[in-house]
Amino acid sequence: MQSYDAVIIGAGFGGLYMLHRLRSLGMDVRVFEAGTDVGGTWYWNRYPGARCDVESMEYSYQFDDELQQEWEWTERYAAQPEILAYIRYVADRFQLRDDIQFQTRVASAVFDEESGTWSVGTVDGEQYLANFVIAATGCLSVPNDPDIPGKADFKGELYHTGRWPHESVDFSGKRVGVVGTGSSAIQSVPIIAEQASDLYVFQRTPAYSVPAQNEPLDPELRQRLKARYADLREQNKREQLGFGARHPDNDGCVMEMKPEDRREQFERHWKLGGLLYLRAFGDIPFDQEANDAAAGFVREKIREIVHDPETAEKLCPHNNIMGKRLCADSGYFAAFNRPNVHLVDVKADPIEKITATGIRTTDGDYELDCIVFATGFDAMTGALNRIDIRGREGQCLQDKWSDGPRTYLGLEVAGFPNLFIVTGPGSPSVFTNMVPSIEQHVDFIADCIAYMRDRELRIIEAEQEAEDEWVEHVNAVADSTLLPQTDSWYVGANIPGKPRVFMALLGFPEYCDRCDEIVANGYEGFAFS
Ligand code: NAP
Repeated sequence: MQSYDAVIIGAGFGGLYMLHRLRSLGMDVRVFEAGTDVGGTWYWNRYPGARCDVESMEYSYQFDDELQQEWEWTERYAAQPEILAYIRYVADRFQLRDDIQFQTRVASAVFDEESGTWSVGTVDGEQYLANFVIAATGCLSVPNDPDIPGKADFKGELYHTGRWPHESVDFSGKRVGVVGTGSSAIQSVPIIAEQASDLYVFQRTPAYSVPAQNEPLDPELRQRLKARYADLREQNKREQLGFGARHPDNDGCVMEMKPEDRREQFERHWKLGGLLYLRAFGDIPFDQEANDAAAGFVREKIREIVHDPETAEKLCPHNNIMGKRLCADSGYFAAFNRPNVHLVDVKADPIEKITATGIRTTDGDYELDCIVFATGFDAMTGALNRIDIRGREGQCLQDKWSDGPRTYLGLEVAGFPNLFIVTGPGSPSVFTNMVPSIEQHVDFIADCIAYMRDRELRIIEAEQEAEDEWVEHVNAVADSTLLPQTDSWYVGANIPGKPRVFMALLGFPEYCDRCDEIVANGYEGFAFS
């Protein structure tokens, strides 16, 4: 059986940098990737309008200064084709493809206690041995296909935003239904609206969205930022979300400001765009009144943008802002001013079934040529729970996580030695700029493996007590905010039967400091043998 020092699962941002780091340690590494190319999230999510909600100059690797100096982003927020081109460029520049096996989905990983090695099995029945397994499987990589009866009967075209075809899809002159109104729908609706003869948006819960204010990247600004890239990256490490340091921030409290100043503050941050809106005040995630004010301002904007008052009202969300990830759009609400765009409230009149010719709600039939599911992902745990992972004494990870994921630092799981997760549940991951978060995890893992090698240690494992304390800590931090109150994918509420557990940790700088401290204390909370 072919044997490797390490097997990495996934060739997205995480898997690629992990490969680069481990190879530079002289390790023999194999990456297994289900897709036909690198890119991960940006390989699969090719739907119209797909774009990152973190600015391109920051949503990129910082591990190699030459790389960050030579790549030229063209827009403030990069669109999917440009991000994918960048990832492909990185793969070629560092000759990473040689060690990646594409079209290979990992089905199982079983730890053998006697030899201290993992046996990794693929869907095609191949088996490999590895000393380390690193899951770079992504936080939002398993599409959620809602269990709506009748899908197989539909005679038209069915799509999921998270599994978009590689060939171009033309909706010209077609009647299209988009199910869902999260980030993916909000980005695709304005584009599909321009093509479709009629677009029906099936909305269950309205979402908060702030215009991204995307624009071409001014070459002078790009050069200025590049000149101080190291500085900018350092500053971002002290940011709660891991990005945005170059923009104005305010730690103050909403209610401490006079109403007119408060409005001005919200207005300023609305104009900055997208997620930067949340930097208007420091207490938005914590204080109900502050949250209500921030949410109320967005509702006012929706009512200003959308001409038909009834539609505007239906588009206004009423849950806590930040309870679900804030969306960043380019013309979403304005799309509902077009005569060919229709909002269907499926909270009031739920979808009953898919028929041969469209969608049936309790209010009647909608005749459609195409249905786009923008229904999200089985987030954070979906990819790992789909692999049969067995640790000590044959314990199955899925069983261990049956009441919710348990990790130490989001990096390791007690009872599963030498298995690392890149941005796993319990790490800041989805609350941050993913690329630096990924780099921080990958560096931690690679440095740890180098540390073990220098000391001739073969096995690392999270201690049970450290894991228990970490899980408690993640919950305590979440409970100090308003976030767990909302039904969202953060708590698994979008997947029927998934345990309700808050799966990410707020606070990127504190997390990085804690990791550094743990390393300085000789990998406190980990046991070596
Ligand atoms: P999402 O936020 O989970 O939204 C899914 C939508 O589908 C929700 O509106 C949900 O309604 C609806 N839905 C699910 N099942 C349904 C059903 N059976 N009937 C009717 N509606 C249903 O998924 P997403 O939009 O793909 O975004 C997921 C995450 O990916 C984002 O939060 C973000 O972190 C990331 N993302 C980022 C970007 C970006 O960088 N700009 C773009 C896309 C995605 P309910 O709310 O009622 O459940």
